[in-house]
Amino acid sequence: MTHPIDPNETEDPCARRVVRAGYQGRHGSFGARAAARCGRPVPTETFDALLAALAAGDVDEALLPAVDRVIGPVDEALAALARAVDGGARLSVAGQVEVPMRLVLAAPRGVLLEEIAEVLSQAPVLRQCEGLLARLGASALPVEDTAEAARVVAARGGGRAAVCSEEAALEAGLVPLLEDVSDVRPNGTLFWRLAARTSAPASLRVLRVTTARLGALLGQSGVDVLSAAGSPAFAVVPEPLLPAVAAALRESKAQGAAWLGPSPDVARRPRVEGLPRATDRRPPTVVSVGAFRVGGGARAVIAGPCAVESEEQVGRLARAVARAGATALRGGVFKPRTSPYSFQGHGLQALRWLKAAGESVGLPVVTEVMAPAQVGPVAELADVLQVGARNCQNYDLLKEAGAAGRPVLLKRGFGTTVDEWLSSAEYLLDAGCEQVMLCERGIRTFEQSTRGTLDLGGLLAARELTHLPLLADPSHASGRKELVPGLARAAWGAGVDGLIVEVHAAPESAWCDGPQALLPEDLERLCDDFGLPPGATPSIERVRTAIDSVDREIGRLVARRLGLCRRVAEAKRAAGVPLRDAVREETVMARYLETPGMEEGAARRLAESLIAMGLSVEGWTGEEAT
Ligand code: PEP
Ligand code: MN
Repeated sequence: MTHPIDPNETEDPCARRVVRAGYQGRHGSFGARAAARCGRPVPTETFDALLAALAAGDVDEALLPAVDRVIGPVDEALAALARAVDGGARLSVAGQVEVPMRLVLAAPRGVLLEEIAEVLSQAPVLRQCEGLLARLGASALPVEDTAEAARVVAARGGGRAAVCSEEAALEAGLVPLLEDVSDVRPNGTLFWRLAARTSAPASLRVLRVTTARLGALLGQSGVDVLSAAGSPAFAVVPEPLLPAVAAALRESKAQGAAWLGPSPDVARRPRVEGLPRATDRRPPTVVSVGAFRVGGGARAVIAGPCAVESEEQVGRLARAVARAGATALRGGVFKPRTSPYSFQGHGLQALRWLKAAGESVGLPVVTEVMAPAQVGPVAELADVLQVGARNCQNYDLLKEAGAAGRPVLLKRGFGTTVDEWLSSAEYLLDAGCEQVMLCERGIRTFEQSTRGTLDLGGLLAARELTHLPLLADPSHASGRKELVPGLARAAWGAGVDGLIVEVHAAPESAWCDGPQALLPEDLERLCDDFGLPPGATPSIERVRTAIDSVDREIGRLVARRLGLCRRVAEAKRAAGVPLRDAVREETVMARYLETPGMEEGAARRLAESLIAMGLSVEGWTGEEAT
């Protein structure tokens, strides 16, 4: 199967030839930093000169600061781009890079904060330092770029300071007096990677907009319209909005609009040719069944026995896995066994036990179907159908399961490539099932020490190609319970949305897959590590175990933070800057106030105590001027 991959998504320009990446400004500026990410930086004096260099072929790419997180569109840069496009330049936006902007206020050694009367920097940068300028009571003097500001300040001396990067300050021989001086922190600038139209297809859909009417129309469709000097200049169109924009363009008869780069085909190209549904470019799919949710940031743990052995066994395990924090109950009732003489599952009777057990603790149930004929009766009771590894490429089964009206968990076959696995998912989607989850459960390799080899690389590759939720099954991948927690962590670290884990109260006497079954208490630890709260009427003691695990983590993190505070104190003393920095403290506070799910008062108290602890290890005695 061929992957029609946009060269901009994967190409490492440095790997082939050195890309000449032009930017406006001087060595040490943020533009230079953006350019260095894309190739060999080539400086130019002005934005117009930069775009002229691109048109003349003197550079392969032009890095243009398009949007600043604080001030929004960068007027000067966009106005130059508009002039170039309107003048007939054929350009495409091949991608974008975000450069974090940590700005410092720097002055020659010996100059005190109170003495600063003039602050030099690039105009857009000065606009985002209004708070600083007001505090200092200093006037702003715009110069070409931030690195130039540092050099001018170093050369002229006096009561002047520059706002620039720390590197530029140190390179010019200045001393940073204040850190993080921009009004909103953390700040960053999005640079567009412009290419001559012929050399690169657009990966960012940018439209030049010249009429206010079209700008308003696009704005109504939800498109971000960037203005330069007060009038609409460019629209950045996200892929999902392309059809709406196409309609808006038709309505305006496309007057006042021109694409930077080839006009995008309105039908989205899938990531893998031939798999339009499984590899459609769209936001992550979230599979949900009642309270169970997985994908797009929602995490799930499906846990339970390999096989449902008895009503009593599955009832007890359901309570145990719910208490641990699992979000769905699994259990096999039709078992695919290597030997025809092994236990084959208790069939539909066991499914009724499984369903009742799930209902008793409020968990949806997941069970495997092995044959098309099983799909109908199983789908009547099961909340999720599982298609097992052995049946990953059983296309008749996939068609039947995909049409059953239930979400499907599709395991990857142990000899199935990622593309083949996604093709199997395509069968399910094509049959009408939108709620598909994919599960990597170990592939066959030469390795004998584990039952399978959990293919983390394959999981990461699949993550790039599909919007469907990805799960990992560390139980079948390892076949050994002592390896399950480690593999689970590795999979979670690789970004899976969920896990499916086998659990048994007495693994030594399990009818199936005992050696890989976790005890319920092992599952509790796993759920605690992954931040899933204990479920269904937990005991005080169970919730306390979960809290203990959070406390251990917080303790480790605070110790690490204090270690870093000691290091920053050394750096501050070496640079001769004050230990205490009110602006920096505001930044730290702002970060905690952004913590999702934390009430403001709690976030504030937490930040205050961390700042106080930090100052204490930094050796701040309260005597120094702030
Ligand atoms: C199972 O989940 O019990 C199972 C049989 O898994 P797999 O199809 O991955 O072997
Ligand atoms: Mn099993």
